[in-house]
Amino acid sequence: RDEFRIALGALEIWDKTVSDVMTKIEDVFMLPTSARLNTKLVAEILRMGYTRIPIYEHDRNNVVSLLFVKDLALLDPEDNVSVSTVCNFHQHMVRFVTEDTPLRFLLDEFKKGDYHLAMVHKLVYADDADPSYELVGLITLEDIFEEILQAE
Ligand code: ATP
Ligand code: ATP
Repeated sequence: RDEFRIALGALEIWDKTVSDVMTKIEDVFMLPTSARLNTKLVAEILRMGYTRIPIYEHDRNNVVSLLFVKDLALLDPEDNVSVSTVCNFHQHMVRFVTEDTPLRFLLDEFKKGDYHLAMVHKLVYADDADPSYELVGLITLEDIFEEILQAE
């Protein structure tokens, strides 16, 4: 029975954390703020098929914005607009969670409806004990649903 499987799935996520189901950072499709939205890049973005694309400044650990595919609708690829221009216009907020966040907390947060994608980071301590964050992945509501629905 589907209801039974879904109930089991809900139990399944009880003791899991964000890092168990996230998409790992090396598999995340992201773009630099400096990229130009020419025909070639727009075609690549559409080919990848993701609705939301993290945007980084200088290095992939420094995600500063999100680009939504729908933001591209009114662009003229001939204009060669930069990603930063489009991001500054829309200003979609990037949300972060730590990798050890329990999935049930993030599910509750996503259920509020303000956002359905978060960047995942972890706290790292360098030699000088000066803590900093390192980006390790990306998680969406879809990843949590998958985990619930695939439970046996
Ligand atoms: P939508 O379903 O709203 O069109 P989507 O297909 O872009 O969005 P989701 O359905 O939320 O994304 O997630 C599907 C899978 O893709 C999830 O595993 C998620 O972690 C992953 N994902 C989402 N965006 C990216 C991205 N930019 N790069 C890599 N993986 C992503
Ligand atoms: P900046 O201009 O901010 O200094 P950059 O031009 O040096 O950035 P790189 O980090 O060298 O950018 O990346 C070059 C290109 O490769 C970017 O378009 C980036 O999106 C892409 N890229 C790198 N790693 C991945 C990956 N795992 N998945 C998808 N695309 C990636």
